This record gives sequence, C-alpha cells and structure tokens, in this order.
Amino acid sequence: MLVIGLTGGIGSGKSTVAELFASLGIAITDTDVIAHQLTAVGQPALEEIASAFGKEILQKDGSLNRPLLRKSVFADVEAKKKLENILHPRIREAVKAELAEATKAPYRIVVVPLLLETGAYEGIINRVLVVDCPEQQQLQRVLARSSLTEAEARAIMATQSSREQRLHRADDVITNDAEQEKLNHQVSELHKKYLTLA
Ligand code: ADP
Repeated sequence: MLVIGLTGGIGSGKSTVAELFASLGIAITDTDVIAHQLTAVGQPALEEIASAFGKEILQKDGSLNRPLLRKSVFADVEAKKKLENILHPRIREAVKAELAEATKAPYRIVVVPLLLETGAYEGIINRVLVVDCPEQQQLQRVLARSSLTEAEARAIMATQSSREQRLHRADDVITNDAEQEKLNHQVSELHKKYLTLA
C-alpha cells in the first residue's frame, strides 16, 4: 500500500492537513499520538524513562511530567539522545504494526514531525509530503496555540530542519501560508494524485 510521510516544522499545519485527509476517509497514523500512548502509565517505555531520568520525572499519580521532561532534554544533547533511544524504535515498531493492519483505504498518511531528522522511516514510507509555511507564520501559530515562549518556540525551530532542507526532500508540498480554506483544494488535488499512484 502507498504510504505518505507527512512532515513539516512545528506549527506548520501538519495536524490541520492530516485532518483534511482524514475527512476524505484516509487513515492517519500520527507518531505524536503514538508517543503519548507509549508513555502512558503502565507502559514499559515510561518505566525506562523513569529509570533513565529518575523518579522526579513522574508526577505524584505516576504519570509522566511532560513539561519537565521537555525541559530536561531541551538543552542537553545526551539526555535527548537517551530519550530518543527509548522512544524512537518503539514508535517505529508501532507505526509498522498500524500499517500492517488490514484497511480498505487505498493509501495511508503517517504524520512524522521529525521524518527527515530521524531518517528512520526509509523503507516504511513511499513519498514525503511537506507542509510548508514562512517561519514567521510558524512562530505566530505556535505562540497562539501553546504556552511556549517565543524563545522556546524559536529554540525548537532551530533544532528542526530548515524550510530549504525540507523542500529539497519533498516529493509533494502543501503551502500553508494563507487562510485554512486554501488547504482544501491542495489536499483534494493531492488526494486525486495519491489515488492514481495507489
Ligand atoms: P503542526 O501539527 O504542524 O504543529 P497544526 O496543524 O497544529 O500544526 O497548526 C498549528 C496551529 O496553527 C493550530 O492551532 C492550527 O489551528 C493553526 N493553523 C494551521 N494552519 C492555519 C492557517 N492556514 N491559518 C490559521 N491558523 C492555522
């Protein structure tokens, strides 16, 4: 089955685009959702995180203190690597398992924010779809949506691929630099293209 890897910087509009494909009946696998599920209470990955980062990384109820974890790995390359080593192989396996499930859909979309950065999805996805927008807009959207400060948002953007790097790797591009309604047409054109390719 044709598998499309959907990627883009933080706040570029990946989730928004994924929802539009979902509304056309296309199954979406979202690695952020999988990462959340894998770190729920009782999951082996959460226990590994607790032993790697200390029990302080858990809240009183045993759930993951996500803001604290984010802070711990933010400016610490070693810690980030440690977390990635726990999560990335598991996420990849979970994606493969989801893709192996029987579906009538002619193609599927896998949302991977760090698709190009991790390089771990070669052999799983057939095409790279990049959601692109100017960095200033990306920043505005992130600040409007979340509790991140501008400095934090900029720092995250700095760890991700640049627009140019992403566009260079893209098989298909959705430009999200205007109102959301402008996405509908682009998504339906790509939908037609993917149905043909599938
Ligand atoms: P990502 O999944 O890439 O981080 P989202 O799809 O969550 O990005 O979009 C980030 C935020 O910006 C969300 O709050 C979303 O509703 C908003 N957004 C996305 N595209 C547009 C747009 N074209 N115009 C206005 N707001 C947008």
